[in-house]
Amino acid sequence: MHYKSTRGGLDSAQSAEVISMGIAPDGGLFVPEEEVKFSLDRIGELTDMDYRQRAMTVLGNFLDDYTEDELKDCVYSAYSESKFDSEEITPVHKLGDNIYILELFHGPTCAFKDVALQILPHLLVKAVRKLKETEETVILVATSGDTGKAALEGFKDVEGTRVIVFFPKDGVSKVQKLQMITQEGSNVHSVGVEGNFDDAQNGVKAIFTDEELRSRMKQKGFKFSSANSINWGRLVPQIVYYFSAYADLVARGEIKLGDMINFAVPTGNFGNILAGYYAKKMGLPVNKLICASNENNVLTDFINSGVYDKRREFIKTCSPSMDILISSNLERLLYDVTDENSRLINDWMGRLRRDGFYNVGEEVRRRISQHFWGGYSTESETLNTIEAIYKEHGYVVDTHTAVAIDVYDKYVISTGDMTKTVILATASPFKFSGSVVKAVFGEEAVKDKSEFQLLEMLSERCGIQIPKGLKDLEKRAVKHNITCSRTDMKKTVESILKI
Ligand SMILES: *Cc1c(COP(=O)(O)O)cnc(C)c1O
Repeated sequence: MHYKSTRGGLDSAQSAEVISMGIAPDGGLFVPEEEVKFSLDRIGELTDMDYRQRAMTVLGNFLDDYTEDELKDCVYSAYSESKFDSEEITPVHKLGDNIYILELFHGPTCAFKDVALQILPHLLVKAVRKLKETEETVILVATSGDTGKAALEGFKDVEGTRVIVFFPKDGVSKVQKLQMITQEGSNVHSVGVEGNFDDAQNGVKAIFTDEELRSRMKQKGFKFSSANSINWGRLVPQIVYYFSAYADLVARGEIKLGDMINFAVPTGNFGNILAGYYAKKMGLPVNKLICASNENNVLTDFINSGVYDKRREFIKTCSPSMDILISSNLERLLYDVTDENSRLINDWMGRLRRDGFYNVGEEVRRRISQHFWGGYSTESETLNTIEAIYKEHGYVVDTHTAVAIDVYDKYVISTGDMTKTVILATASPFKFSGSVVKAVFGEEAVKDKSEFQLLEMLSERCGIQIPKGLKDLEKRAVKHNITCSRTDMKKTVESILKI
């Protein structure tokens, strides 16, 4: 399998190169050059496999420059019971007759990003070795909260790598912040940026494309790579759980092989749902991908109008990992639905940078809406959904997952479609316990409570266990207390690396 850039500047790259580089040198994103197709028979074979075997089957097709042994090493190191607190890795929970919850939060940091970030470091280290690169890899991450911690945890003490995470200083939850500033490991750094996620992401992109810095880094024996979902090595492991969820439903007799299902995905940077689109293209029987946003509803407007317009107020919501106005991975979808027209992609991305918006026109919009349905949930709707799901089903969901459930309800009302639907649950409710406790037990319940007390309360009142990764967070020592302005991110990198 070879890969090319959405901006047209590079092709025929191997997956090891693509994973090592992170982003293409022309600023584009890498996409596969050839199609991978799974027949129904092949999908049927997945039903008897465990998660690791399913991952081997799906990843093997895309990462074919890795030997089977190399891949096996990566997959079995990542998806082990010492890392995930469910032996199924991504278990499916039946919520109602038509609704299933795909629990993607059983990894060490309690968010779906673990599924990709537990395997990416292994893929990267092997890639660097295969390419006989000698530089130390510096992973730069911009995070709205969950990627940062998942990257720190995935890369901690991984030989030949350093990680620098930039998070919006006041734009992540208390638990998320504590998780990052208490991170252990000799090669990891987290930095609070005075700005929002888009500021952090723009800063990281600017550092990546800084030629002068790149050549100075090379002299000192460093090179940059990315652990954000612009890196193909982050995206491709996410395709696996769409197949895995489908195979589980077939294995349990909930659907027959070949039946269509929908997926509803709480969306920010468009990485998670894009993996679902790739699964659909590969032949997984998917009817609609329901793209769920919070009040930062750029994507809802885009899917409905064809105009991507980031010129709007950035809203801080109770689902902060989706507080994003520039969804990077949309570029890969646009490339696909324009029959791989790099000229158009360059034009639109240029307009977005210059003017703050672009219009893809009716034909492209129509193509997108064949696969996607977009909707959003307001703050009060999200909290009401958490309460309603708990009261009806005794099941506790986090704020992001609640956004997806609420938008799914709107989808059913709007379309009448009763196709069985899998909701992707992207975080443990404990990670956002303040909002969750407030939603279930009322404003009074959270008053004057520390984050730690809220975790305890959620656990006791709802009868669920605090995950290992979040226990005793308040007692851990703070190891990182650097902050910087959004214009000083480059300087901060230079000072951390001493270059
Ligand atoms: C990152 C994240 C999302 C958004 O996923 P994208 O791939 O950026 O669309 C949703 N929910 C949670 C909990 C997340 O951490």
